Amino acid sequence: MIIRNGAVALPGSPRLTRADLRVAGGKIAAIGLHLPPDGEPELDAGGLEVFPGAIDPHVHFFDPGFPHKEDFYHGTAASASGGVTTVIDMPCTSDPQVINLENLKHKRSLVEPKAVIDFAFFGGVSSQVFERGFPDCMHELAPYVPAFKTYATSGSALFERLNHYQFSRVLEVARELNRPILLHAEDAGFVLPAGEALRMTGDSPTLFYRSRPELAEVLAVFAVSEIAETLQAPLHIVHIGAARAAEIVAGRSTTSGETCPQYLAFDLDDFERIGAPLKITPPVKQPDQKERLWQYLADGVIGFVASDHAPGTHEEKNTGSIWTDYAGIPGGPTLFPYLYSAGLRSGRLSLPRFLEVTSEAAARRYRLDDRKGRIAVGLDADLTLVNPHATVTVRGAESLSRGKITPFEGMELTGRVQTTLVRGIVVYRDGEITCEPGTGAFLSPAE
Ligand SMILES: [Zn+2]
Repeated sequence: MIIRNGAVALPGSPRLTRADLRVAGGKIAAIGLHLPPDGEPELDAGGLEVFPGAIDPHVHFFDPGFPHKEDFYHGTAASASGGVTTVIDMPCTSDPQVINLENLKHKRSLVEPKAVIDFAFFGGVSSQVFERGFPDCMHELAPYVPAFKTYATSGSALFERLNHYQFSRVLEVARELNRPILLHAEDAGFVLPAGEALRMTGDSPTLFYRSRPELAEVLAVFAVSEIAETLQAPLHIVHIGAARAAEIVAGRSTTSGETCPQYLAFDLDDFERIGAPLKITPPVKQPDQKERLWQYLADGVIGFVASDHAPGTHEEKNTGSIWTDYAGIPGGPTLFPYLYSAGLRSGRLSLPRFLEVTSEAAARRYRLDDRKGRIAVGLDADLTLVNPHATVTVRGAESLSRGKITPFEGMELTGRVQTTLVRGIVVYRDGEITCEPGTGAFLSPAE
């Protein structure tokens, strides 16, 4: 196939380059002007911008186990509609959890036939795993997972947080295996007592925020990154919402970080206005944090972005109390469109930096960069074609995800993802999935 006449985003280039792309065997085979026809079909990208497919390195698809919240078909379809060509799924919100090789193989066999884009799995280490299976489970999983997820405050009773001693042991193994530990960074010594005390005093987004403020995140990032620094072990802080947390990460030599559009777009004032549709953990922060996070994302202190896609059903999001409403949003389909509109087109991110934060940096951190992350000869033809002149208004009801409740509801975004290709296969075009379920393939990290 030849993709003709697009304005192509080549790595490192300060502006888009008019070029054709030849795709052969699912890979980019040639990049150039006026490539000779090869008898294969051609795709006219005139008037469109051609980006490397976005990588969303933090999703919860709940499959198998809780497919009423999301399943691998709807999750990957929604991601494809937003220009994402690779997702990395979290280990802790499916049943079984990805905590050993047997579970990974079982989960893969169930979800691979549903995927429309490529995917990888993170492994997980909870206190339960630490008591039973550690460290053998990490050793057996390491060839198949790019990193291991952990919590400083438990996300659920089925996957409990690690204490500082357990973090030190797990980080030692991570160093040996050369696989980062992913940290959900909220300090349990703050969050648990604060939540207990504050729920006695009332029911509001601000009270929920006060149980998990900037300081709760900063304390966890400081402590666990200090352990990682001491051990010289790889650590990655997921969904950073507090600017001070990013500053701590910047001072560490083996710790990296990500943020999410929800922390760049929204703050506590929005949470009071929107309520449960914006409830996430960690919660959005004070209004002054957003521009600082943008700055840290632009200058590389924060390495990349992820969606933390985790939809709740209508019932889960409307329990009658902000304390019990489900924490999570279906961020997958808006990840790249939001960053394109509010980052690249608004001038907050240069083109090279936009490419890094949406694709290349995550590919590198998770050892997928031998196949993914850039438009370059020899890499997978994972491509997102954007109409830069169109405008879209986010409508949750129209989403391909099972999750319809989004805090981005009604937001106008510049640019529209028109076509998404995975390894040269058109998987999405103009609002519809155009490939068979099972087109997506499982990815292991390169060694
Ligand atoms: Zn998450």
